[in-house]
Amino acid sequence: MVPRLLLGPHRLLLGPLTAAAAPLPRRRALAGRRPMSSSTAASAAPAPAHRPRRPLRGVVFDMDGTLTVPVIDFPAMYREVLGGDAAYAAARAAGGGSVDILHSIEAWAPDKQRQAYEVIARFEREGLGRLQIMPGASELCGFLDAKQIRRGLITRNVKDAVDLFHQRFGITFTPALSREFRPYKPDPAPLLHICSTWNIPAHEVIMVGDSPKDDIVCGKRAGAFTCLLDETGRYGRHDSLPEEVKPDFKVSSLTEVFTVLEKHFDLASVSAESRI
Ligand SMILES: [Mg+2]
Repeated sequence: MVPRLLLGPHRLLLGPLTAAAAPLPRRRALAGRRPMSSSTAASAAPAPAHRPRRPLRGVVFDMDGTLTVPVIDFPAMYREVLGGDAAYAAARAAGGGSVDILHSIEAWAPDKQRQAYEVIARFEREGLGRLQIMPGASELCGFLDAKQIRRGLITRNVKDAVDLFHQRFGITFTPALSREFRPYKPDPAPLLHICSTWNIPAHEVIMVGDSPKDDIVCGKRAGAFTCLLDETGRYGRHDSLPEEVKPDFKVSSLTEVFTVLEKHFDLASVSAESRI
């Protein structure tokens, strides 16, 4: 039984990259963005009655740790790639408590780097075999479909993993951008690309993910609303998060996202001209 790990975001990059997407215009970033109340945690007090609900027409999800239960043993992967406990500890210290394995190995000699990629790929393959959908994900998607709210996906994982998710759980996200799309989170480009594809402004979209530094920063930079999924409470109180990674909402389960959406937003269906 592999332990269920609730660790940092998947900060990996493997293999040749294909068809890099052109950078998108960022004129929409922050355009029309109206700040939410600072008291916006899902469990916080209700929104003031006088505050109108914001229109919301799209939800973009992270995949690993948000739509799927995290199953990759990242510490074991990092130890093996980096060469043991001491090297892993040093990399963590250098990264302020987290490891960006790409950054750690990018200056290595080709042979050593290739071996590292092979280790990472093995861990990822094993993770795919244990893929599980996050509790509440299917119900939330059904709710969004009933409301005609668009659903998209942005992940730093590979396209094969997204394809497997779609096939295994029968839920499709459009667009679904994997790490073959460059630049990837926390750059806002993938989220802005999805908004452009939908023809919906970013301030009518919410980004839901479990990584403050990837998902929340991506959403904030794009001018979207943001919701942090923190199942274990490892990020502490909502108001204790640094401003640059502070989400509009913080929830401990996908089920709580229902509450956020219904309490704070006018769930406007997608207009005909926005349909693709
Ligand atoms: Mg994640």
